[in-house]
Formats: sequence, structure tokens, C-alpha cells
Amino acid sequence: MPAPATLTVDLNALAANFRTLEAIGGVPVHPVVKADSYGLGAEACSRRLMAEGARTFFVARTGEGERLRTALGPEPAIYVLDGCLPGRAPRLRAAGLRPVLNADAQLAEWRAAGGGGCGIQIDTGMNRLGFRIEAAPESFEGLELVLSHLACADDPHEAMNGRQRDAFAAAAARYPGALRSFANSGGVFLGPDYAFDATRPGICLYGGGPEGRPDDRIRTVATLTAEVLQLHEVPAGETVGYSRGFTATRPTRIATCAAGYADGVLRSYSPRGQVFAAGEMRPIVGRVSMDACAVDVTGLDLAVGDRVELFGANRMLDDAGAAAGTIGYELLSAITARVPRIYIG
Ligand SMILES: *Cc1c(COP(=O)(O)O)cnc(C)c1O
Repeated sequence: MPAPATLTVDLNALAANFRTLEAIGGVPVHPVVKADSYGLGAEACSRRLMAEGARTFFVARTGEGERLRTALGPEPAIYVLDGCLPGRAPRLRAAGLRPVLNADAQLAEWRAAGGGGCGIQIDTGMNRLGFRIEAAPESFEGLELVLSHLACADDPHEAMNGRQRDAFAAAAARYPGALRSFANSGGVFLGPDYAFDATRPGICLYGGGPEGRPDDRIRTVATLTAEVLQLHEVPAGETVGYSRGFTATRPTRIATCAAGYADGVLRSYSPRGQVFAAGEMRPIVGRVSMDACAVDVTGLDLAVGDRVELFGANRMLDDAGAAAGTIGYELLSAITARVPRIYIG
């Protein structure tokens, strides 16, 4: 019996997306597996990506890196995008992690602890993390990778993309021995001059699109389904859910489905969310509650115990995100620990 709400992860599709992104970029893919692989499960996803040939991974936090090291063993390189925060150097070194250093203080901290393999991030305009170009360090022993991050890769028409690329190319030339990593998912689709030596996609590996919809070559990886807990025949004039969020204007069949905000189904799905039920797209009505949401299934052949799809092959992740006023990245990383991840492939 599957759990009432489950997230199915198609590892074959993940592997196919990895190969597709390598083919499009023409350089190795270094997968970004931060935030538990965007909620899909970093251990299972990274293992499969390693089997496909990935040898370098990116996480955000030191703790994520430690868990990934335990899962993957000593071989792959694991970069920590937070860098070397105060007091973290011993943990990074103990787990064989490579910080992506963002500032002089981080470089000093890493060196004081004995240094070793690491990367640096150059800020080419995003003003999030990284050394400003004019303040970037001289090349140094142990520097294996230089990266920068695009601010607008989701918009191929944005002129800032080209400016960041050119600034990165010039800055990276100061580190002749270091691998150059620039493009995230969106960047992979901007053209070969964005690929440099390795790309760093996240969302496209997991089946999402950087531009609010995936490229046709990207396969669906994640499917969130919920079981129908109960069916109600609601007479016209009655209301459904908290705060009388929905009023039936005609006799309405309501399915109470086992997915609420404690599963990661954002409350902002109300009132524009939709689910795929018995072969049709149907609206979520009223307020999403903690453990359930209500779907108008009038006229559908649906029984208690059947499952509806919140996103997956029939309801695109990015469309579900748009309906909830957000993006696929947030929908995936919002799925809570209560929802079992079921791996196929
Ligand atoms: C999250 C992240 C990525 C991956 O971005 P996607 O848009 O998911 O492909 C790459 N690089 C850095 C520095 C990141 O923070």
C-alpha cells in the first residue's frame, strides 16, 4: 500500500536528463544536489548520477556535504557552495569536502586550517556570493575550480547573461590550472560559449524548466500523487473547507485528497491549483489544509483509494508552480519528510 501522499522519482529519467544536458553543453555535468536534490533525495539521485559517470557534485551546506560523502564514499569531489564559514574548516576537511570560497576571510580560515582542494566563486554581477572581480585572490595552491553564477539564465534575451559570461571568461583566465564552471540549468541552453569546462545544472536534472517550462528534451522525473480519502456530494449553496473557501453553485462532487501544506502542497495552491484526476485536469477548491485538499471531481469516475496527480507527467511541475504563484524549484523543495520518496528505475 503506498502512503496517502507519495513522491515518485524516476531515476531513469534523471539519468536521461543528465546525458541530455551533457550532450547539449558538450562538457561534463557536475550535478547540483543541494537541498536533498531539490527534495527528491540526494542519496538516491547522486548514486544514480555517479553510475552515469558524474564525479563532481555541488551542495549548499556543510551538513549536506557530510551526508553525501557518507552516501557516495571517498571518490567523488563534493563542493560546498556556502564556502568555509567560521569554524567549519575542520568538518570540511574531515569529510573531504571542498569549500567554494567566497571571501578573503573564508580563504584565510581555510588556509589556517591547512587548506587543500577548494574552489572560489567570482561574483560577476549577481551580488549574492563570491569575490568581486577586482578583489579576487591571486591563484594559489589547492585551487581546483573557479565558478560564477548567472543571475538571469532563465531569460535568454537578457543582456546581462553575455556581460557575466565575458566577465567570467576574463576573470577565470587568471587561474590557468583551475576548472571553469559557469552555467546552471538555464545557462546550458544559452549556447556553447556558456559551457566552459563543466556545467552545474540542478532543476533540469530533476525535470523542471529554468524558464517556467522544461525544454522538450528534458524528461519528467518527479510525480506527486495523493490518495482520495473521501468523496462528498455537496448540494448547491453549501461551502467546502476552512473559511468557507468554496461555495458550490451546483451539486458538486468533492474529493478530499491526502495532500496538504504539511506535505508541501503550498497553501497558495488555493484557489488556482489543479490536479490531474481520472484523466482530466480538475480545480483544487477552497483552502488547502494541513493534511488535505479538496478537488471538484463532478462527473468523474473516481473512487476512494484512487490517486490524483499534483504534478508529474500529466500536470507539468512548472505549471503547478505557476498556479501556486511560485516556481517548480520551490514546489519540489517544499515536499516534506512525511511524503515517502519512491524510486523507480
Ligand atoms: C542552485 C545553484 C545551481 C543550480 O541551479 P539550477 O537553476 O537549478 O540549474 C548552480 N550553481 C549555483 C551556484 C547554485 O546556487
